[in-house]
Amino acid sequence: MENIIANIDRIQQRIYNACVTSGRNPETVKLLLATKTVHADNIKLALNHGQTLIAENKIQELKEKFDALQDTPHQSHFIGHLQTNKVKELLRYNVSCLQSLDRLKLAEKLQRRLAYEDKTMDVFLQFNTSYEDSKFGMAPENALAFAKEILQFDRIQIKGLMTIGLFSANDEKVRKCFQVLKRIQTNLLDHGFPVHELSMGMSGDLEIAIEEGATIIRVGTAIFGKRPYPDSYYWNENS
Ligand SMILES: *Cc1c(COP(=O)(O)O)cnc(C)c1O
Repeated sequence: MENIIANIDRIQQRIYNACVTSGRNPETVKLLLATKTVHADNIKLALNHGQTLIAENKIQELKEKFDALQDTPHQSHFIGHLQTNKVKELLRYNVSCLQSLDRLKLAEKLQRRLAYEDKTMDVFLQFNTSYEDSKFGMAPENALAFAKEILQFDRIQIKGLMTIGLFSANDEKVRKCFQVLKRIQTNLLDHGFPVHELSMGMSGDLEIAIEEGATIIRVGTAIFGKRPYPDSYYWNENS
């Protein structure tokens, strides 16, 4: 049994230390709980300990836990690969930000559904900064062109960028991924896109991400313990 509360405190200490190391104000880094495979009771435990931001990877899990979490105040983001036929459900379960917008077709579907329901939604653009085939996200080279295309969709508000860094014991290779996302941010900000949020860094690499400018780190295992499925189940094209 994981001690979720103690783990959250440990993560907060790590965030604080990384901020001190890089001369940043700890209040500029938000902790997002990656709750895939985590039971609603354990998510509630974390929310009752002062956490406010959670995210699922799959609509199915969002749906399963929705009722149980309704009475506990929180904000819900989505961080998984989203099929276009699941957009309707994304809206139904009160997701406030889609962090994984990675293709035009998805943006088109989202716009259409949002307009139909007379809603708007925040999104982050997801980039494949490690250039691994197994990762979702757009090629960094396409960032500006893609952001410009999104302008035609008045219901979609671009608020930030997201990436999953390379899984490597080589910190400098991991750091390069985060630097790529930071560079995309600088470029898009220069062109007037309000991409103030940088969602990068997870259990194993959050310090590097914070040093490179992360404003949201997404933590799962270091708080809730090991997951029963390998991450390929969540991150590969055929999942
Ligand atoms: C699971 C997941 C995380 C958290 O990963 P951990 O290594 O468990 O901290 C972060 N981002 C995404 C997109 C995830 O799917």
